[in-house]
Amino acid sequence: MSCLFCKIVDGSIPSTAVYQDEFCYAFADLNPKAPVHVLVAPREHIGSLEETGEGDRALLGHLMWAAARIARDKGLAKGYRVVVNTGQDGGQSVDHLHVHLLGGRQLTWPPG
Ligand code: 5GP
Ligand code: ZN
Repeated sequence: MSCLFCKIVDGSIPSTAVYQDEFCYAFADLNPKAPVHVLVAPREHIGSLEETGEGDRALLGHLMWAAARIARDKGLAKGYRVVVNTGQDGGQSVDHLHVHLLGGRQLTWPPG
């Protein structure tokens, strides 16, 4: 198995765990873009949002729920952003679906 985030999920590549359950594993981004920068990835390998289908609706909701839970745990009461970069134009660099949770500073809009 060559997928970087599958290896992080199964523990063969170390990471700083932030939250985990049956469906997802959340860990600190190695190159954080904000004081809080967490990645929430499904345990199951899904390449991107573009590869999801009808059967993934509950899992996708779960990832969003997990991001909100982590944001509360991190005390991001002033707000935060969740982002799913998808495909080449979306700036996705790791081909295993993940939700970015960014917070702890004023974020600008629009993103680049
Ligand atoms: P993408 O560009 O695909 O939306 O996001 C990939 C994210 O994964 C980037 O923010 C990058 O910093 C992070 N990342 C890449 N390699 C590693 C790694 O080995 N460990 C961790 N914790 N994060 C990584
Ligand atoms: Zn994977």
